[in-house]
Amino acid sequence: MTRTAITNATIVTVDANDTVIDGGTIVIDGDVISEVLRAGAKPASTTDHTIDAGGGIVMPGLINAHTHLAMTAFRGFADDVDLQAFLGKLFPAEAKIMADRHVRVGVRAAFAEAMLSGCTAALDMYWYPDASIEEAAKAGFRLQTGPIFIGSNGPDNIPFEQRLANATSSKPHQWILAHGTYTMDPTQLGATGELAATEGARFHIHASENAGEVADVQSRYGRTPVELLDEKGLLRSGTVLAHAVVLTDAEIARLAETHTAVAHCPSSNMKLASGFCRVPELLAAGVTVGLGTDGPSSSNDLDMLAAMRIAALIHKGNRLDPTVLPAAAILRMATMGSAAALGINQLVGSIEVGKKADLVRLDPSSPSLTPIYDPISTIVYAASRADVIDVWIDGRTVVQNRTCTTLNLGQVLSDLRAEGLAISQ
Ligand SMILES: [Zn+2]
Repeated sequence: MTRTAITNATIVTVDANDTVIDGGTIVIDGDVISEVLRAGAKPASTTDHTIDAGGGIVMPGLINAHTHLAMTAFRGFADDVDLQAFLGKLFPAEAKIMADRHVRVGVRAAFAEAMLSGCTAALDMYWYPDASIEEAAKAGFRLQTGPIFIGSNGPDNIPFEQRLANATSSKPHQWILAHGTYTMDPTQLGATGELAATEGARFHIHASENAGEVADVQSRYGRTPVELLDEKGLLRSGTVLAHAVVLTDAEIARLAETHTAVAHCPSSNMKLASGFCRVPELLAAGVTVGLGTDGPSSSNDLDMLAAMRIAALIHKGNRLDPTVLPAAAILRMATMGSAAALGINQLVGSIEVGKKADLVRLDPSSPSLTPIYDPISTIVYAASRADVIDVWIDGRTVVQNRTCTTLNLGQVLSDLRAEGLAISQ
């Protein structure tokens, strides 16, 4: 097993005490973090490789709690509109192009973009998930996904009942993904929830993204999306609601009581003018909140460093209170918060002995990261994806000196351009 030491690092651990170690060393044994050492301490035995971090920041890989990765091909396709107009343009375009190959091209580009910006894992909701799972294994990306359900036939033209039968016969799945309470009827919702429960899969759905969606669901069923999910037994441990922007106090209390997690997607919420998710109240109530970018068509990138900064800024501005969601809370949301929402917090999300080596090294010679008074503030308020130089997932180097080692970026991007041309024709 290969032993690698990353020395002379400002280690931002995101452990329970937000410990930061100056001049520390991380030892990676195969795929696992085997030692986290303070300045001056030496690894227990010799290592095969040493990487001098030059005093720069080494942090846990960022975890995207809600996205649609293969939508890289739809980046910039429907801008400056609200959710309903966005979907009105997107759904027919997806139906025109959707195929296994389209998804493979899209996710390869997404893995490259994500990894180059310090993201090491994601919860992905999209068509042809088996294709994404195969491509993730090749790229070395930690992907969480599963079969997706929608009320209509969907862009892959499979009727709901057939989709349900396919998913039932191809068990087990990590996740069951349902599009939303406004695109599926209550019976369909119940069926997907039951499938997830019977096979012990986690459940992910868009919910209460904007006021229009809530009004629409309420007029159809006399209940809000969250009330409908509650009635169907879908508010439970292992469920992740994407967005959850429009919530009542009672709904926040129910999310806490039922251990339902939320994936906060600030870039998408701002771009679609959906509103401000009540993150401070959710956290105060004890709800697990992870951070996501949403798809690269509604927020136009997969940049988790940008998502952190946007999340940190919008809530302060919205509440006129600079103490709301301090930097440490934001970094925790993008690492341990997302990991807990995805159910992988025992594996990843912090730099601690025994965890998988999903790590990000920032450039110690970047002007935008100099000087460093508080490394956590530096990450949240100053770091950009241009500062990411090395990334490890499962102990494997996937980005080295700002270059993807597991993907041929030139080929990936030329394939993506061809998909873009096909969409626009
Ligand atoms: Zn979404």
